[in-house]
Amino acid sequence: MALTCERCKAEVYKLERCDYCGRSICFDCVKSSERVTKTSRLVICKDCWSKTGLRGMFKNRYGAVVQKSNAAPTR
Ligand SMILES: [Zn+2]
Ligand SMILES: [Zn+2]
Repeated sequence: MALTCERCKAEVYKLERCDYCGRSICFDCVKSSERVTKTSRLVICKDCWSKTGLRGMFKNRYGAVVQKSNAAPTR
């Protein structure tokens, strides 16, 4: 059964999930992925990668979910 990439609409057999926008994306749309712990992996799509803030979060190994729970008000 083919799955459809939510970013480019390609039909593929395996989808990754972007940890920043939550879309299911194909391998071509994955900009980068990195193992964070033994069981979890961080995936970023090309759209999110082009947003500078999210790229920084990825490099610091912060997923969208992690960032939310760690959010400290800066003001
Ligand atoms: Zn795709
Ligand atoms: Zn994304």
